[in-house]
Amino acid sequence: MSVRRSDPDRQSVYYAERTVFTDTEYDKRLSEGDFIRLFNRLFEHDWWERHNIPIPVVEPTLVEDGDSPSYALLDTENVANDPILRIAEHQVNACILAHEASHLAAYHFYKQHSYGLIECHGREYRATFAAVAEIVLGVEAATKLRKAFSNFIKVRPEHAPGMPGSIMTVPRPKPEHDPFGVGLLACLEQDQLDRLDFDFLPQLNGVPV
Ligand SMILES: [Zn+2]
Repeated sequence: MSVRRSDPDRQSVYYAERTVFTDTEYDKRLSEGDFIRLFNRLFEHDWWERHNIPIPVVEPTLVEDGDSPSYALLDTENVANDPILRIAEHQVNACILAHEASHLAAYHFYKQHSYGLIECHGREYRATFAAVAEIVLGVEAATKLRKAFSNFIKVRPEHAPGMPGSIMTVPRPKPEHDPFGVGLLACLEQDQLDRLDFDFLPQLNGVPV
């Protein structure tokens, strides 16, 4: 980001995320093809389009980033430039996509408010992340994430609901786009099953699986 902001909740957000996602299907490494498929589905999703959130380009982190984790790059001086999501080699998974994409969405939702400089991982970000997690990872994961945030992160009164830039302004995804609340990641897995050639199935007859 081109503007430095205070970000007191960063480590607590990482910690809360780890309690929910570590060693689950959500942080499982995806093939490059599946990661791109998930990426495209998120940015073609009705929620993303309906709110006119800019669509980023995705790139690997740079050599000079060293062991840096993934990050979102927003040109806040010149919004005509596409945002960039740089994904680290060790983080090609669904939850990092949701985390980094949420930075773009949070900035989009809150930049128009005269609310000063919002914190990168503040309450507005967390509300946005929960909405994006619902789309990408499903309702169950998003519910756990919301709970982890409230368990591990103290809410400070300056971000009370009802104030400009409050969490009340983050729209939730509409249920008709995912009636069972399973999320895009699970749909991706279903697609993989559909793509399999089931001709081999008769060979499994009688074999316990
Ligand atoms: Zn972050």
